[in-house]
Amino acid sequence: MPKQRSESNEKCALCSKATGDSWLSCEICGDCDWYHAKCLQLSDEAYKVLQDLWFCKTCNDKVRKIIPFLAGLQVRMTVTEKTITIMENYMGKNGQIIKLKSNIAKISGD
Ligand SMILES: [Zn+2]
Ligand SMILES: [Zn+2]
Repeated sequence: MPKQRSESNEKCALCSKATGDSWLSCEICGDCDWYHAKCLQLSDEAYKVLQDLWFCKTCNDKVRKIIPFLAGLQVRMTVTEKTITIMENYMGKNGQIIKLKSNIAKISGD
């Protein structure tokens, strides 16, 4: 489904022309500016890939900072899930706290 160019901004932010079919708008700050693929010096292939998920330079810098943070979060969540599973296993049996502690140390250490 093609995106709609913002009505309030009918010209390419780079060349100030209103015509042209191949264009991109930022997925994050979206409605404000749009750009011709050729004004961004994108190839046809790059345009096809990026047309649905393109970030302007400002947002791209933000995204690059967020992604490592999310990746770190994912790892931490995985560790927590494992920890809970182990706790449940041990608590379900006879609560071997010492063994439990050493298992958690194995997971979080490295
Ligand atoms: Zn342009
Ligand atoms: Zn943006």
